[in-house]
Amino acid sequence: MIRGEDDLKKNSMGLTEADGIFLAGGPGDAAVCIRTADCIPAFVIHSGELVAAFHAGWRGLAEGITDTLGTLIGEEGLDRRKISVWAGPHICGKCFAVRDDVGSRFPGHVSKDGRLDLFEVMKDRLSRIGIGKDMVRLLRKTGGCTYENGNYYSHRRGDTGRMLVFAIQR
Ligand SMILES: [Zn+2]
Repeated sequence: MIRGEDDLKKNSMGLTEADGIFLAGGPGDAAVCIRTADCIPAFVIHSGELVAAFHAGWRGLAEGITDTLGTLIGEEGLDRRKISVWAGPHICGKCFAVRDDVGSRFPGHVSKDGRLDLFEVMKDRLSRIGIGKDMVRLLRKTGGCTYENGNYYSHRRGDTGRMLVFAIQR
């Protein structure tokens, strides 16, 4: 999956130009992969089954990728109370300085010194589609912030490399 102009695509296997993939009926034996460097790689689990993966950057969140997710969840008739969302390594709210044109798209989420916490924004957006904030969690042992941890690629730090974050249904 490659970050592109489209937001969340349904059942598009293979290398897809999209910010996310929705897997009606589960992934089977396929792995899903998200490329990131600072944005949030997010995996959506319903009753133990991987149903979606998406790349949560400020642009996708501002343009409503979670609304698309909500629509697809509705189409599939999934129970939102049984959905959890897991976030991989990303830039933290102390490091992500944003310009006013970006910050103005997230009223109430920008600190006085112009920092945006993408994870908090994602939790807020997901709560609007019926996924409780307590059901949106960080994957353990991720090594923290991509900007601060030199083992990660960070777009903000000037890296051109990207991380590949995989999920496989077991
Ligand atoms: Zn940080």
